[in-house]
Amino acid sequence: NRQLLLARHPEGRIRDEDFRLVDAPLAPLADGQVQVRTIYLSIDPTMRVWLHPTDNYLPMIQPGEVFRGIGIGVVEATRHPGFAQGTLVQGLFGCQQRVISDGSDLLVLSDIAPLPVTAHFSLLGHIGMTAYCGLVKVGAAKAGETLLVSGAAGAVGALVGQIGRILGCRVVGVAGGAEKCRYLTEVLGFDAAVDYRAADFDASLAAACSKGIDVYFDNVGGHTLELALGLMNDFGRIVCCGMISTYNDYDVPGPRNIVQVVLKRLRMQGFVILDPEHDPKEAYAHLLQWAGEGRLQHRAHVVEGLERVPDAINMLLDGRNQGKLMVRLSDE
Ligand code: NDP
Repeated sequence: NRQLLLARHPEGRIRDEDFRLVDAPLAPLADGQVQVRTIYLSIDPTMRVWLHPTDNYLPMIQPGEVFRGIGIGVVEATRHPGFAQGTLVQGLFGCQQRVISDGSDLLVLSDIAPLPVTAHFSLLGHIGMTAYCGLVKVGAAKAGETLLVSGAAGAVGALVGQIGRILGCRVVGVAGGAEKCRYLTEVLGFDAAVDYRAADFDASLAAACSKGIDVYFDNVGGHTLELALGLMNDFGRIVCCGMISTYNDYDVPGPRNIVQVVLKRLRMQGFVILDPEHDPKEAYAHLLQWAGEGRLQHRAHVVEGLERVPDAINMLLDGRNQGKLMVRLSDE
């Protein structure tokens, strides 16, 4: 069973030497267990946070342990009455070719929705839940408001902006490069898109948010968060979903203008979608309906092979992904 182990906690950008690929024997199945063959591993920015040498919302991973990862796979052997051979399942498999489970942590994909397998990562699953619950529950976005979303061409951000349009918001996206910005306005229907890599970013963002910002869905932190704090309207909400611009560093200064939270009576709230308060039923019902009506687009970006996981995490931090990034380990 090929596994990706953590070799050491990375300093800064991830390097191949931070991981080790090994082949370990697979234990025989006991009663009540299933053996799952991994098909896709979701590649998430938070994997860089899981590599920090501290506990956070999940325990720290120790060198020598299989690296954590969310997977979709197929039951290839079973001694569990609830799982037939061939069943497609999702769970926290770890970065490995096969996993043995007692089934308690596995979700059966056909119980959720009849969709192409990759859509369980690009539309539903933790990505769709994050976009829907973050914007609707945490951000309480309403018609007529200006919504700013960063990381807007990524998996979560692209859904957030489109859901904002469906809710009747004026949506401004921030993304890296002219091509991603064109994708936001021309394909996804954002009202405006601003390139944070362009020299005139600060002025362009202010111009695109000329009526101020009511809801900022923050995926990146850093400089864009400072700009957004300066442009927020009184009583606005900042949804702290992620801060990818800081994930390679263990010591990051806070926004210099955080006093705006006081002056403008803002609400800034973080959330983690794994928390049980986030109920998938409502989110999935809306996401499936909107996607079925052709109002919600999503795309998968697939790279091949377990050995590509470290570089794939760097792809997210470099902006080299176009859509929901996943690594394929075996055939569907
Ligand atoms: P994406 O598909 O959005 O990929 C990450 C994107 O981040 C890249 O494509 C890149 O786009 C952008 N990026 C990378 N570095 C920077 C930087 N320094 N400054 C600005 N943008 C940068 O990933 P996800 O959709 O999976 O995740 C998006 C965010 O949501 C992350 O912050 C993640 O941690 C968070 N998240 C939070 C969850 C929660 O429960 N709170 C759950 C899931 C995700 P570009 O080319 O535009 O730079």
